[in-house]
Amino acid sequence: MGRKIGPVCRLCRREGMKLFLKGIRCTGDKCAIERRNFAPGMHRRGGRGKLSNYALQLREKQKAKRIYGILERQFRVFFARATKKKGITGETLIQLLERRLDNVLYRTLFVSSRPEARQLVSHGLMMVNGRTVNIPSFQVRVGDIIQPYPDEGNKKRILNTLEMLKDRPYPEWLELNRETLEVKVVKLPGKVDAALPVEESQIVELYSK
Ligand code: SF4
Repeated sequence: MGRKIGPVCRLCRREGMKLFLKGIRCTGDKCAIERRNFAPGMHRRGGRGKLSNYALQLREKQKAKRIYGILERQFRVFFARATKKKGITGETLIQLLERRLDNVLYRTLFVSSRPEARQLVSHGLMMVNGRTVNIPSFQVRVGDIIQPYPDEGNKKRILNTLEMLKDRPYPEWLELNRETLEVKVVKLPGKVDAALPVEESQIVELYSK
């Protein structure tokens, strides 16, 4: 899967908010938003002036893409899928993004960032319903059981991360068995579960032009 390569903290600075793309570093004082919260580039300090409607919509879409770490083409595929489903398109889009396997690992606190989750999946270190899945965009369903590949190093790394992130809230749509490290999808995530700093209706408007 294609993904954006480059200094990721610039992406947060561009949006003027933390997008949490670098794991633990994001909550420390080395975070670029804590240190230099202005837009990157030559005209940076004027880079967040009054925006047109179109520019606002574009920024919301960019934020969502950056948070989930996906490129335009795949984002459009998700949007097209969302429009074909019943319900509010923007909310369905968020739900589809949340159901990505890499996002589920991030939510389930097995890793501290989505890029780390993608790496785990791509390296074949995660299983869904007993089978290895190495596609980060794999969509989980209600009832699915996600667990790490039974490798001691893999399990140890996950246990360490769980311990490190133990104070973070755990999502209601996932259920973790801390003994077996099995995660069950107990319901589909909603907009509230995602708690994204994104106005998804703006994305729908942008793509509906
Ligand atoms: Fe964004 Fe994390 Fe970099 Fe802070 S440390 S700017 S939240 S990626």
